[in-house]
Amino acid sequence: MAGQHYDVLVIGGGNAGVSLAARLHRYGVKDVAVMEPGDQHFYQPLFSHIAGGRAKPSEAVRPQRSVMPPGVEWIRDGAVGIDPASNTVSMASGGHLGYGHLVVCPGLQLDWDKIPGLAGAVQSPSGASHYEFSLAAKAWTLLRGLKAGTAVFTMPSGPIKCGGASQKPMYLACDYWREQGVLHDIRVVMVQPSATVFGVPAVDDELKRKIAEYGVELRLESELVSVEAAAQNVLIRDNATGSTEELHYDVLNAVPPQSAPDWLKATELPAPDDSGGFVEVDPQTLRHVRFANIWSLGDAAATTNSKSGGALRKQTKVLAKNLVAAREGRPLTEKYDGYSVCPFTVSRSTVVFAEFDDHYRPMPSVPKLPTWKESRASWVVDRDIFPRVYWNLILKGRA
Ligand SMILES: Cc1cc2nc3c(=O)[nH]c(=O)nc-3n(C[C@H](O)[C@H](O)[C@H](O)COP(=O)(O)OP(=O)(O)OC[C@H]3O[C@@H](n4cnc5c(N)ncnc54)[C@H](O)[C@@H]3O)c2cc1C
Repeated sequence: MAGQHYDVLVIGGGNAGVSLAARLHRYGVKDVAVMEPGDQHFYQPLFSHIAGGRAKPSEAVRPQRSVMPPGVEWIRDGAVGIDPASNTVSMASGGHLGYGHLVVCPGLQLDWDKIPGLAGAVQSPSGASHYEFSLAAKAWTLLRGLKAGTAVFTMPSGPIKCGGASQKPMYLACDYWREQGVLHDIRVVMVQPSATVFGVPAVDDELKRKIAEYGVELRLESELVSVEAAAQNVLIRDNATGSTEELHYDVLNAVPPQSAPDWLKATELPAPDDSGGFVEVDPQTLRHVRFANIWSLGDAAATTNSKSGGALRKQTKVLAKNLVAAREGRPLTEKYDGYSVCPFTVSRSTVVFAEFDDHYRPMPSVPKLPTWKESRASWVVDRDIFPRVYWNLILKGRA
Protein backbone atom coordinates (compact mmCIF):
# COMPACT_ATOMS: atom_id res chain seq x y z
CA MET A 1 0.00 0.00 0.00
CA ALA A 2 2.97 2.35 0.61
CA GLY A 3 3.17 5.18 -1.91
CA GLN A 4 -0.38 4.72 -3.30
CA HIS A 5 -2.04 8.00 -4.34
CA TYR A 6 -5.75 8.97 -4.34
CA ASP A 7 -7.50 11.98 -5.83
CA VAL A 8 -9.47 12.24 -2.59
CA LEU A 9 -8.44 10.50 0.61
CA VAL A 10 -10.89 10.58 3.54
CA ILE A 11 -9.63 9.87 7.07
CA GLY A 12 -12.42 8.27 9.12
CA GLY A 13 -15.29 6.08 7.93
CA GLY A 14 -17.90 7.22 10.46
CA ASN A 15 -21.01 9.29 9.78
CA ALA A 16 -19.07 12.07 8.02
CA GLY A 17 -16.54 10.01 6.07
CA VAL A 18 -18.94 7.47 4.57
CA SER A 19 -21.65 9.98 3.65
CA LEU A 20 -19.11 12.36 2.13
CA ALA A 21 -17.33 9.64 0.12
CA ALA A 22 -20.67 8.39 -1.22
CA ARG A 23 -21.70 11.89 -2.23
CA LEU A 24 -18.37 12.67 -3.90
CA HIS A 25 -18.61 9.44 -5.87
CA ARG A 26 -22.13 10.40 -6.91
CA TYR A 27 -20.81 13.79 -8.04
CA GLY A 28 -18.37 12.05 -10.39
CA VAL A 29 -15.17 11.92 -8.31
CA LYS A 30 -14.11 8.35 -8.98
CA ASP A 31 -10.75 7.95 -7.21
CA VAL A 32 -11.92 8.17 -3.57
CA ALA A 33 -10.59 6.12 -0.64
CA VAL A 34 -11.74 6.02 2.99
CA MET A 35 -9.23 5.12 5.70
CA GLU A 36 -11.08 3.46 8.59
CA PRO A 37 -9.53 0.97 11.04
CA GLY A 38 -12.78 -0.30 12.60
CA ASP A 39 -14.85 -3.14 11.20
CA GLN A 40 -18.11 -1.95 12.78
CA HIS A 41 -20.10 1.17 11.93
CA PHE A 42 -22.30 2.77 14.60
CA TYR A 43 -25.41 4.94 14.50
CA GLN A 44 -24.52 6.75 17.72
CA PRO A 45 -27.84 8.61 18.32
CA LEU A 46 -29.39 5.25 19.23
CA PHE A 47 -26.87 4.80 22.08
CA SER A 48 -29.12 7.08 24.21
CA HIS A 49 -32.15 4.93 23.42
CA ILE A 50 -30.22 1.76 24.29
CA ALA A 51 -29.23 3.26 27.66
CA GLY A 52 -32.86 4.21 28.26
CA GLY A 53 -34.21 0.78 27.33
CA ARG A 54 -35.84 1.91 24.09
CA ALA A 55 -33.55 0.27 21.48
CA LYS A 56 -31.62 -2.96 21.08
CA PRO A 57 -27.84 -2.68 20.65
CA SER A 58 -28.10 -4.59 17.36
CA GLU A 59 -30.09 -1.70 15.85
CA ALA A 60 -27.15 0.70 16.24
CA VAL A 61 -24.38 -1.30 14.57
CA ARG A 62 -23.62 -2.77 11.15
CA PRO A 63 -20.49 -4.22 9.58
CA GLN A 64 -18.32 -1.42 8.15
CA ARG A 65 -18.09 -3.33 4.88
CA SER A 66 -21.87 -3.11 4.44
CA VAL A 67 -21.87 0.71 4.61
CA MET A 68 -18.85 1.39 2.38
CA PRO A 69 -20.10 3.05 -0.81
CA PRO A 70 -19.63 0.93 -3.97
CA GLY A 71 -16.69 2.23 -6.01
CA VAL A 72 -14.98 3.76 -2.95
CA GLU A 73 -11.87 1.97 -1.70
CA TRP A 74 -11.73 1.03 1.99
CA ILE A 75 -8.25 1.23 3.50
CA ARG A 76 -8.43 -0.71 6.73
CA ASP A 77 -5.82 1.24 8.63
CA GLY A 78 -5.58 4.21 10.97
CA ALA A 79 -3.94 7.56 10.26
CA VAL A 80 -1.14 8.51 12.65
CA GLY A 81 0.22 11.61 10.93
CA ILE A 82 -0.39 14.11 8.12
CA ASP A 83 2.33 15.96 6.20
CA PRO A 84 0.70 18.81 4.26
CA ALA A 85 4.01 19.70 2.58
CA SER A 86 4.34 16.34 0.82
CA ASN A 87 0.56 15.65 0.68
CA THR A 88 0.95 12.35 2.50
CA VAL A 89 -0.74 10.55 5.37
CA SER A 90 1.18 8.07 7.49
CA MET A 91 -0.60 4.95 8.70
CA ALA A 92 -0.49 2.86 11.86
CA SER A 93 0.75 -0.09 9.78
CA GLY A 94 3.81 1.94 8.79
CA GLY A 95 3.04 2.90 5.17
CA HIS A 96 2.22 6.27 3.58
CA LEU A 97 -0.53 7.34 1.21
CA GLY A 98 -0.53 10.35 -1.12
CA TYR A 99 -3.53 12.54 -1.83
CA GLY A 100 -4.75 15.24 -4.19
CA HIS A 101 -7.34 16.40 -1.64
CA LEU A 102 -7.56 15.22 1.94
CA VAL A 103 -10.74 15.19 4.07
CA VAL A 104 -10.11 14.77 7.80
CA CYS A 105 -13.04 13.39 9.83
CA PRO A 106 -11.86 10.91 12.50
CA GLY A 107 -14.42 12.12 15.07
CA LEU A 108 -13.61 12.71 18.73
CA GLN A 109 -11.70 10.72 21.30
CA LEU A 110 -13.22 10.06 24.72
CA ASP A 111 -10.81 11.49 27.33
CA TRP A 112 -11.73 9.23 30.26
CA ASP A 113 -8.48 9.97 32.08
CA LYS A 114 -9.16 13.71 32.35
CA ILE A 115 -11.41 12.99 35.36
CA PRO A 116 -9.60 10.99 38.05
CA GLY A 117 -11.37 7.69 38.73
CA LEU A 118 -13.83 7.96 35.84
CA ALA A 119 -12.32 5.27 33.58
CA GLY A 120 -12.51 2.71 36.38
CA ALA A 121 -15.92 3.89 37.59
CA VAL A 122 -17.74 3.27 34.29
CA GLN A 123 -16.30 -0.26 34.25
CA SER A 124 -17.26 -0.90 37.89
CA PRO A 125 -20.56 -2.59 38.92
CA SER A 126 -22.40 0.74 39.54
CA GLY A 127 -21.13 2.84 36.63
CA ALA A 128 -21.79 3.13 32.91
CA SER A 129 -21.77 5.60 30.01
CA HIS A 130 -23.96 5.70 26.95
CA TYR A 131 -21.15 7.43 25.03
CA GLU A 132 -19.50 4.01 24.59
CA PHE A 133 -21.45 1.39 22.63
CA SER A 134 -20.26 -1.41 24.88
CA LEU A 135 -21.46 0.44 28.01
CA ALA A 136 -24.84 1.72 26.77
CA ALA A 137 -26.65 -1.57 27.38
CA LYS A 138 -25.00 -1.78 30.81
CA ALA A 139 -26.45 1.66 31.62
CA TRP A 140 -29.95 0.32 30.99
CA THR A 141 -29.32 -2.79 33.12
CA LEU A 142 -28.27 -0.55 36.02
CA LEU A 143 -31.03 2.03 35.58
CA ARG A 144 -33.74 -0.61 35.17
CA GLY A 145 -32.54 -2.43 38.28
CA LEU A 146 -32.62 0.65 40.54
CA LYS A 147 -35.64 0.66 42.88
CA ALA A 148 -34.39 3.22 45.44
CA GLY A 149 -31.27 5.33 46.02
CA THR A 150 -29.39 7.96 44.04
CA ALA A 151 -28.76 8.10 40.30
CA VAL A 152 -26.21 10.66 39.09
CA PHE A 153 -25.94 11.74 35.45
CA THR A 154 -23.07 13.98 34.34
CA MET A 155 -22.08 16.06 31.31
CA PRO A 156 -18.49 17.35 31.02
CA SER A 157 -17.34 20.83 30.04
CA GLY A 158 -15.85 21.47 26.58
CA PRO A 159 -17.11 20.49 23.14
CA ILE A 160 -18.71 17.05 22.99
CA LYS A 161 -20.80 15.16 20.46
CA CYS A 162 -24.47 16.09 20.71
CA GLY A 163 -24.23 17.93 24.04
CA GLY A 164 -27.89 17.45 24.89
CA ALA A 165 -27.48 13.68 24.59
CA SER A 166 -25.99 13.70 28.10
CA GLN A 167 -29.52 14.21 29.47
CA LYS A 168 -31.44 11.75 27.30
CA PRO A 169 -31.10 8.47 29.28
CA MET A 170 -32.02 10.40 32.44
CA TYR A 171 -35.48 11.34 31.14
CA LEU A 172 -36.03 7.83 29.76
CA ALA A 173 -35.08 6.29 33.11
CA CYS A 174 -37.26 8.73 35.10
CA ASP A 175 -40.28 7.89 32.96
CA TYR A 176 -39.58 4.17 33.45
CA TRP A 177 -39.20 4.59 37.22
CA ARG A 178 -42.46 6.54 37.28
CA GLU A 179 -44.20 3.72 35.39
CA GLN A 180 -42.79 1.24 37.90
CA GLY A 181 -43.96 3.37 40.84
CA VAL A 182 -40.45 3.88 42.28
CA LEU A 183 -39.55 7.37 41.05
CA HIS A 184 -40.33 8.96 44.44
CA ASP A 185 -37.76 6.62 46.05
CA ILE A 186 -34.98 7.66 43.67
CA ARG A 187 -32.95 10.85 43.99
CA VAL A 188 -31.97 11.93 40.48
CA VAL A 189 -29.11 14.42 40.08
CA MET A 190 -28.06 15.88 36.72
CA VAL A 191 -24.71 17.68 36.65
CA GLN A 192 -23.92 19.96 33.73
CA PRO A 193 -21.49 22.80 33.03
CA SER A 194 -23.83 25.24 31.25
CA ALA A 195 -25.71 28.09 32.90
CA THR A 196 -29.05 26.97 31.48
CA VAL A 197 -30.46 23.52 30.89
CA PHE A 198 -29.64 23.68 27.16
CA GLY A 199 -29.40 27.21 25.75
CA VAL A 200 -32.36 27.71 23.43
CA PRO A 201 -34.99 29.50 25.60
CA ALA A 202 -38.11 27.74 24.23
CA VAL A 203 -36.39 24.35 24.54
CA ASP A 204 -35.17 25.20 28.04
CA ASP A 205 -38.73 25.96 29.16
CA GLU A 206 -39.93 22.59 27.95
CA LEU A 207 -36.98 20.70 29.48
CA LYS A 208 -37.39 22.53 32.79
CA ARG A 209 -41.03 21.47 32.86
CA LYS A 210 -40.00 17.81 32.47
CA ILE A 211 -37.20 18.18 35.04
CA ALA A 212 -39.73 19.54 37.56
CA GLU A 213 -42.22 16.80 36.66
CA TYR A 214 -39.63 14.08 37.39
CA GLY A 215 -38.22 15.89 40.44
CA VAL A 216 -34.66 15.95 39.05
CA GLU A 217 -32.07 17.97 41.00
CA LEU A 218 -30.28 20.00 38.33
CA ARG A 219 -26.75 21.16 39.15
CA LEU A 220 -26.01 23.91 36.59
CA GLU A 221 -22.56 25.48 36.05
CA SER A 222 -21.20 22.36 37.71
CA GLU A 223 -19.00 19.46 36.71
CA LEU A 224 -17.67 16.14 37.84
CA VAL A 225 -14.21 16.50 39.40
CA SER A 226 -13.42 12.93 40.44
CA VAL A 227 -14.99 9.55 41.18
CA GLU A 228 -14.25 6.97 43.86
CA ALA A 229 -15.71 3.84 42.33
CA ALA A 230 -15.20 1.54 45.32
CA ALA A 231 -17.03 3.93 47.68
CA GLN A 232 -19.49 5.00 44.94
CA ASN A 233 -18.82 8.68 45.55
CA VAL A 234 -18.55 11.56 43.09
CA LEU A 235 -17.04 14.97 43.75
CA ILE A 236 -18.90 17.78 41.99
CA ARG A 237 -17.66 21.35 41.68
CA ASP A 238 -19.96 24.34 41.31
CA ASN A 239 -17.96 26.48 38.87
CA ALA A 240 -19.99 29.60 39.74
CA THR A 241 -19.12 29.56 43.44
CA GLY A 242 -16.05 27.28 43.49
CA SER A 243 -17.68 25.10 46.16
CA THR A 244 -17.56 21.30 46.00
CA GLU A 245 -20.04 18.64 47.03
CA GLU A 246 -19.55 14.92 47.61
CA LEU A 247 -22.44 12.68 46.59
CA HIS A 248 -22.94 8.98 47.12
CA TYR A 249 -24.45 7.24 44.09
CA ASP A 250 -26.12 3.92 43.49
CA VAL A 251 -25.90 4.35 39.71
CA LEU A 252 -23.61 6.71 37.78
CA ASN A 253 -24.03 7.43 34.08
CA ALA A 254 -21.17 9.73 33.08
CA VAL A 255 -20.28 11.38 29.78
CA PRO A 256 -16.48 11.77 29.43
CA PRO A 257 -14.65 14.93 28.31
CA GLN A 258 -13.86 14.83 24.60
CA SER A 259 -11.34 16.30 22.15
CA ALA A 260 -9.82 15.62 18.74
CA PRO A 261 -7.65 12.47 18.58
CA ASP A 262 -4.17 12.98 20.06
CA TRP A 263 -2.38 12.14 16.77
CA LEU A 264 -4.41 14.88 15.03
CA LYS A 265 -3.55 17.41 17.76
CA ALA A 266 0.14 16.72 16.98
CA THR A 267 -0.22 17.65 13.27
CA GLU A 268 -0.08 21.14 11.75
CA LEU A 269 -3.84 21.10 11.12
CA PRO A 270 -5.26 22.60 14.35
CA ALA A 271 -4.85 26.31 15.13
CA PRO A 272 -1.93 26.71 17.57
CA ASP A 273 -4.22 28.06 20.30
CA ASP A 274 -6.88 25.33 19.99
CA SER A 275 -6.38 22.96 22.92
CA GLY A 276 -9.15 20.71 21.56
CA GLY A 277 -6.98 20.04 18.49
CA PHE A 278 -9.76 20.48 15.91
CA VAL A 279 -8.97 20.97 12.21
CA GLU A 280 -8.79 24.69 11.46
CA VAL A 281 -11.28 25.11 8.64
CA ASP A 282 -13.23 28.08 7.39
CA PRO A 283 -16.53 27.37 9.23
CA GLN A 284 -18.55 28.17 6.10
CA THR A 285 -16.61 26.58 3.22
CA LEU A 286 -15.06 23.80 5.38
CA ARG A 287 -11.71 24.23 3.60
CA HIS A 288 -8.57 24.44 5.73
CA VAL A 289 -7.55 28.06 6.29
CA ARG A 290 -3.86 27.37 5.52
CA PHE A 291 -3.82 24.26 3.28
CA ALA A 292 -6.06 24.62 0.21
CA ASN A 293 -6.33 20.88 -0.49
CA ILE A 294 -7.29 19.88 3.06
CA TRP A 295 -10.89 19.86 4.29
CA SER A 296 -12.74 18.77 7.42
CA LEU A 297 -16.29 18.20 8.63
CA GLY A 298 -18.11 16.47 11.46
CA ASP A 299 -16.95 16.27 15.05
CA ALA A 300 -13.21 16.79 14.34
CA ALA A 301 -13.67 20.09 12.48
CA ALA A 302 -13.17 23.42 14.26
CA THR A 303 -16.54 24.70 13.12
CA THR A 304 -18.61 26.92 15.42
CA ASN A 305 -21.73 24.74 15.61
CA SER A 306 -22.82 22.28 18.26
CA LYS A 307 -21.38 18.95 17.04
CA SER A 308 -24.02 16.51 15.76
CA GLY A 309 -24.92 14.17 12.94
CA GLY A 310 -27.64 16.64 11.93
CA ALA A 311 -25.00 19.37 11.60
CA LEU A 312 -22.69 17.28 9.48
CA ARG A 313 -25.53 16.21 7.19
CA LYS A 314 -25.63 19.85 6.04
CA GLN A 315 -21.83 20.11 6.03
CA THR A 316 -21.50 17.06 3.76
CA LYS A 317 -23.34 18.72 0.88
CA VAL A 318 -21.39 21.97 1.28
CA LEU A 319 -18.00 20.28 1.46
CA ALA A 320 -18.67 17.89 -1.44
CA LYS A 321 -19.80 20.70 -3.74
CA ASN A 322 -16.93 22.99 -2.72
CA LEU A 323 -14.34 20.22 -3.15
CA VAL A 324 -15.63 19.46 -6.64
CA ALA A 325 -15.49 23.19 -7.46
CA ALA A 326 -11.91 23.43 -6.16
CA ARG A 327 -10.86 20.46 -8.31
CA GLU A 328 -12.31 22.24 -11.34
CA GLY A 329 -10.72 25.58 -10.47
CA ARG A 330 -14.07 27.25 -9.75
CA PRO A 331 -14.78 29.52 -6.73
CA LEU A 332 -16.30 27.95 -3.61
CA THR A 333 -19.92 29.11 -3.47
CA GLU A 334 -21.47 26.72 -0.91
CA LYS A 335 -21.65 27.87 2.72
CA TYR A 336 -22.52 25.93 5.87
CA ASP A 337 -24.87 28.00 8.03
CA GLY A 338 -24.09 26.60 11.52
CA TYR A 339 -27.28 24.51 11.77
CA SER A 340 -27.42 21.80 14.42
CA VAL A 341 -30.03 19.65 16.08
CA CYS A 342 -30.70 17.76 19.30
CA PRO A 343 -33.74 15.54 19.85
CA PHE A 344 -34.32 15.25 23.62
CA THR A 345 -36.06 11.99 24.55
CA VAL A 346 -38.06 13.51 27.43
CA SER A 347 -40.14 10.37 28.02
CA ARG A 348 -40.32 6.82 26.68
CA SER A 349 -42.60 7.99 23.86
CA THR A 350 -42.04 11.74 23.38
CA VAL A 351 -39.27 14.02 22.13
CA VAL A 352 -38.49 17.74 22.38
CA PHE A 353 -36.78 18.63 19.13
CA ALA A 354 -34.18 21.43 19.21
CA GLU A 355 -32.96 22.88 15.91
CA PHE A 356 -30.66 25.86 16.32
CA ASP A 357 -27.71 27.79 14.88
CA ASP A 358 -24.21 28.35 16.23
CA HIS A 359 -25.55 31.06 18.57
CA TYR A 360 -28.29 28.76 19.90
CA ARG A 361 -30.93 30.76 18.02
CA PRO A 362 -33.88 28.64 16.83
CA MET A 363 -33.45 27.38 13.24
CA PRO A 364 -36.50 25.20 12.52
CA SER A 365 -36.48 23.09 9.33
CA VAL A 366 -40.24 23.51 9.09
CA PRO A 367 -40.99 27.13 10.09
CA LYS A 368 -44.06 27.66 12.30
CA LEU A 369 -44.14 23.98 13.41
CA PRO A 370 -43.54 24.07 17.22
CA THR A 371 -41.06 21.16 17.23
CA TRP A 372 -39.60 22.37 20.55
CA LYS A 373 -42.80 21.21 22.25
CA GLU A 374 -42.84 17.69 23.68
CA SER A 375 -44.48 15.49 21.05
CA ARG A 376 -45.19 11.90 20.11
CA ALA A 377 -44.65 12.68 16.41
CA SER A 378 -41.07 13.85 17.10
CA TRP A 379 -40.45 10.59 18.94
CA VAL A 380 -41.49 8.61 15.88
CA VAL A 381 -39.20 10.74 13.70
CA ASP A 382 -36.22 10.38 16.04
CA ARG A 383 -36.67 6.74 17.06
CA ASP A 384 -38.07 5.13 13.92
CA ILE A 385 -37.55 7.37 10.89
CA PHE A 386 -34.06 8.85 11.46
CA PRO A 387 -32.31 5.45 11.80
CA ARG A 388 -33.81 4.35 8.47
CA VAL A 389 -32.87 7.64 6.81
CA TYR A 390 -29.33 7.19 8.18
CA TRP A 391 -28.72 3.65 6.95
CA ASN A 392 -30.58 4.02 3.65
CA LEU A 393 -30.02 7.61 2.52
CA ILE A 394 -27.43 9.56 4.54
CA LEU A 395 -24.70 6.91 4.28
CA LYS A 396 -25.43 6.63 0.56
CA GLY A 397 -24.87 10.37 0.06
CA ARG A 398 -28.53 10.94 -0.74
CA ALA A 399 -29.80 12.98 2.23
C1 LIG B 1 -24.67 9.09 22.78
C2 LIG B 1 -24.71 9.92 21.53
C3 LIG B 1 -25.91 10.44 21.10
C4 LIG B 1 -25.96 11.22 19.96
N1 LIG B 1 -27.17 11.69 19.56
C5 LIG B 1 -27.26 12.39 18.42
C6 LIG B 1 -28.53 12.81 17.93
O1 LIG B 1 -29.57 12.52 18.52
N2 LIG B 1 -28.57 13.54 16.79
C7 LIG B 1 -27.43 13.86 16.10
O2 LIG B 1 -27.52 14.52 15.06
N3 LIG B 1 -26.20 13.48 16.55
C8 LIG B 1 -26.10 12.75 17.66
N4 LIG B 1 -24.87 12.31 18.10
C9 LIG B 1 -23.66 12.81 17.44
C10 LIG B 1 -23.28 12.07 16.17
O3 LIG B 1 -23.30 10.67 16.36
C11 LIG B 1 -21.88 12.54 15.75
O4 LIG B 1 -21.89 13.96 15.67
C12 LIG B 1 -21.43 11.94 14.45
O5 LIG B 1 -21.33 10.55 14.54
C13 LIG B 1 -20.08 12.52 14.04
O6 LIG B 1 -19.63 11.92 12.87
P1 LIG B 1 -18.07 11.85 12.54
O7 LIG B 1 -17.95 11.09 11.27
O8 LIG B 1 -17.46 13.19 12.65
O9 LIG B 1 -17.48 10.98 13.72
P2 LIG B 1 -17.78 9.43 13.99
O10 LIG B 1 -19.13 9.07 13.48
O11 LIG B 1 -17.49 9.23 15.42
O12 LIG B 1 -16.74 8.67 13.09
C14 LIG B 1 -15.34 8.83 13.21
C15 LIG B 1 -14.69 7.63 12.54
O13 LIG B 1 -13.28 7.86 12.41
C16 LIG B 1 -12.61 6.66 12.72
N5 LIG B 1 -11.24 6.96 13.16
C17 LIG B 1 -10.84 7.30 14.39
N6 LIG B 1 -9.51 7.46 14.41
C18 LIG B 1 -9.06 7.24 13.15
C19 LIG B 1 -7.77 7.25 12.55
N7 LIG B 1 -6.66 7.51 13.25
N8 LIG B 1 -7.68 6.97 11.23
C20 LIG B 1 -8.80 6.68 10.50
N9 LIG B 1 -10.04 6.64 11.04
C21 LIG B 1 -10.17 6.91 12.34
C22 LIG B 1 -13.45 6.03 13.80
O14 LIG B 1 -13.20 4.62 13.88
C23 LIG B 1 -14.87 6.34 13.34
O15 LIG B 1 -15.40 5.34 12.52
C24 LIG B 1 -24.79 11.50 19.23
C25 LIG B 1 -23.56 10.96 19.66
C26 LIG B 1 -23.52 10.17 20.79
C27 LIG B 1 -22.21 9.59 21.24
